[in-house]
Amino acid sequence: MIDLRSDTFTYPTKSMREAMAMAEVGDDVFQEDPTVKKLETLAAEKTGKEAALFVPSGTMGNLISVLSHCHRGDEILLGDKSHISLYEVGGVSALGGIHPRTLPNNNDGTISIEILEKGIRHLDIHSPPTRLICLENTHNFCQGSPLHPDYMMIVGDLAKKYGLKIHIDGARIFNAAVALKVPVSKLTEQADSVMFCLSKGLSAPVGSLVCGSAEFIDKARKVRKMVGGGMRQAGHIAAAGIISLVNLVDRLQEDHENAKMLATQISDMKGIELDKSNIKTNIIFFKLKGLDGNLFLQQLEKKQIKILMTDTDAGIFRAVLHRDVSKKQVETVIKSFESILGKE
Ligand SMILES: *Cc1c(COP(=O)(O)O)cnc(C)c1O
Repeated sequence: MIDLRSDTFTYPTKSMREAMAMAEVGDDVFQEDPTVKKLETLAAEKTGKEAALFVPSGTMGNLISVLSHCHRGDEILLGDKSHISLYEVGGVSALGGIHPRTLPNNNDGTISIEILEKGIRHLDIHSPPTRLICLENTHNFCQGSPLHPDYMMIVGDLAKKYGLKIHIDGARIFNAAVALKVPVSKLTEQADSVMFCLSKGLSAPVGSLVCGSAEFIDKARKVRKMVGGGMRQAGHIAAAGIISLVNLVDRLQEDHENAKMLATQISDMKGIELDKSNIKTNIIFFKLKGLDGNLFLQQLEKKQIKILMTDTDAGIFRAVLHRDVSKKQVETVIKSFESILGKE
């Protein structure tokens, strides 16, 4: 099976499996797991922050970050296509009593600075106080667009001007750094916190990290315990994450090249609507016309290929490139698309 539904379908490498089996471990709730500590130190270094916290998932990492920055009744600003707004079960409001104010995302994953500034609420008796800006890098539902350091600088200035904090949902921030050819720390400099996932393109089986100041991470550690994310001999899974950060970052470039190749080749097939100029990382979205979406999925599956239909009514599909899909397999996917759809 060639599984393009998500980069979460990457499997651990042989060296990860060995490292996990042999990991030196302790009780991490007591902060006595040396492997978790090593991973957290490495994550803090990479993101240019004082400290980091290992968490079970990206969703929990975002939730812990927002709960650590805000009180009940505070407001956060975030994009209307953001993962936090669309795909995290409304956790920040359900569990945190935090008011999410969504602002329109541009196609490149940014939120216009004018719109952000207008969205900030002041001391009016009627308004919840704005506390936090959440950005997403790369932006999953904006074609995996990377947010540029220049944009981060402008948002950073705005946040300083109004005394707001910035959180980055950086599930794929290593993809952004590789695509933009900058260190991750350049993308996180303006942020008070960043969450990134080990379990996506970085191929680890489980886990994400939250990074920030030492004071923030102390708070986040307590919140992690509260939401049930304190783990015991977690070094067994952290061991895989260390391999992700040491060995599997640079190769993300291959996934980006494969995504570009796939997008370029399918963009002129019959019924496919795809802006290939917009493919900068490992995520492709396209619209299908003139063929039933479910039928298309069935035909692909007969050819051992899986992609994701994100919107049945509009016929929108997503394909995500990753370490377990080789260039050769991408060529197979292109041929299969061609035999189902035909050339324009
Ligand atoms: C996958 C993802 C998350 C959540 O990560 P999980 O580990 O699946 O909970 C958060 N934000 C973005 C942008 C993602 O793509």
